[in-house]
Amino acid sequence: MERQARAEILTVGTELLLGQTIDTNSAYIGEQLAAAGIEVHWKSAVGDHEGHIREALRAALARSEIVITTGGLGPTEDDLTCLAVAAELGRPLILDKTVLESIRHRFTDRAIVMSRNNERQAMIPEGATVLPNRNGTAPGFAIRLRDGRIVAAVPGVPSEMRLMLNEQVIPRLRESFGVTSTIRSHILKACGIAESTLDETISDLIRLSRNPTIGVMAYPDEIHIRLTVKSESEAEGDRLLDELETAIRARLGDYLFGRDEERLEEVVGRLLLETRATVAVAESCTGGLVCHRLTNLPGSSAYFIRGDVVYANEAKERLLDVPHKLIAEHGAVSRPVALAMAIGMRQTAGTDLALGITGIAGPGGGSATKPVGLTYIALASEGGVICREHRFLADRDTNKLLASQSALDILRRHLLSSRHA
Ligand code: AMP
Ligand code: MG
Repeated sequence: MERQARAEILTVGTELLLGQTIDTNSAYIGEQLAAAGIEVHWKSAVGDHEGHIREALRAALARSEIVITTGGLGPTEDDLTCLAVAAELGRPLILDKTVLESIRHRFTDRAIVMSRNNERQAMIPEGATVLPNRNGTAPGFAIRLRDGRIVAAVPGVPSEMRLMLNEQVIPRLRESFGVTSTIRSHILKACGIAESTLDETISDLIRLSRNPTIGVMAYPDEIHIRLTVKSESEAEGDRLLDELETAIRARLGDYLFGRDEERLEEVVGRLLLETRATVAVAESCTGGLVCHRLTNLPGSSAYFIRGDVVYANEAKERLLDVPHKLIAEHGAVSRPVALAMAIGMRQTAGTDLALGITGIAGPGGGSATKPVGLTYIALASEGGVICREHRFLADRDTNKLLASQSALDILRRHLLSSRHA
C-alpha cells in the first residue's frame, strides 16, 4: 500500500545564502524524486549554523514524511548537519568503525595523511543507516523515526549527492513508502509562433488534461510544452504520453520542431544530412551566430560550406556582389538587400542553399520607418528565393538570438517541404 510520502528538501551551506553557490542540488533532487513518484512540496535553505539547521529540521518534520538534507557533511568545523540532526532527534553521535576504516583507506590509497578532522566524518547519529560515499569521504546517513518518517542526509558536492541519492536514498524511500508509480515528462518544442497563439490553439487540451498534465513555458526564442504523466508502468505512461502528443501535433503541426533535449540546430543538421543539401550563410546583424550554432554540431562539415559576416556595406558588395545601387536605394536593412545577400552567397559558395540575414540589432540605429529589431531573413534555393520580415522587440543579445532562431527555422521549414516533395 502506498503511504502518504511528501518530501521536503533542506539545503545547508552559508555559500548558498550568499549567492556564491547556486543551489542546483535541490533542482536535481526534486526532479529525481518526482520521476520516482515522490512529490516534493517544500524546500528551504539555511546557513552553516547548528541552531538554524535544527530549527529548519523541526519545521520540516512537522509537515513532511521525508526530509532530505544536502550539504554540511564535510570534514571542516562549519559542517554541522550531522551534529544538528543528531541533536534535534535526541540521538548521540557514535563512532562508526567501518566508516572510519573506509575513510582511512581512501587516504592511504592516495598516500596522504588523514587529518583529525576527517575522523569527525565517522561520527554518525545512533541508529542511523550509513550511506557509503563512493565519490568522496563524507558518508551520508538515513534515519527512520519510530512513526516511519525518514530523514536522509546527503553531501553537498553535486556528484557525490547525485550518486548517493539515486543508488541509495530513492530506492529506500520507494520501498519504505510502498511507492510503485512513476512520473515521467516529455517536452515538445515549438518556434515561430507566439505564446498566446499557441495557448489558444491547445487551450482545451490544457484545460481538460489531468493525466498527463500540460505545462507551457515560454522562452524568448521558443516555447516548450511539458507533458507529465503519472502511471503504474512505463508502458502505460508512454501510451498516455503518445496519445496526448498526437493530439497536440495535430493542432500545432510544423510549429513543433523537436522534443526533450533536441535543439533547433540539431534538427536542421539532421534534415540537411537527410536531404544531402549543402548550406552557406551570409550574416550581418547576427555576427556569425547562425554559423556558430550550425557548426556546434559534430559532423557539420558534411553540409556547412561557408559563412561570411558581411557587416559593412562594402563587404556585402565586394564579397557577395550585392549591387551598390540596391543598398543606396533601399538601405542595408531591407528586403531587396537580404534577397541579394542570399542569392550572392549561394552563387559564390556554390551551395544548394544560402541564407542572407540583415537587421538592426539595437539599441541604436533605428528610425521611424526602420525601428530597432527590424530584420530580414532570406533563403535562396534552386527553386528561387524567399524572405521573412520580422520586428523583434528585445535587447541586442535577444534580437540576435531571435534572428538566428528564425533563420534556422526558415531553413528547417524549407528542408521539411523539400523532403516531402
Ligand atoms: P558540503 O557538503 O557542505 O561540504 O558542500 C561541499 C560543496 O558542495 C561546496 O563546494 C558547495 O558549494 C557545494 N554545494 C553544497 N550545497 C549545494 C547545493 N545545494 N547545490 C549545489 N552545490 C552545493
Ligand atoms: Mg558546506
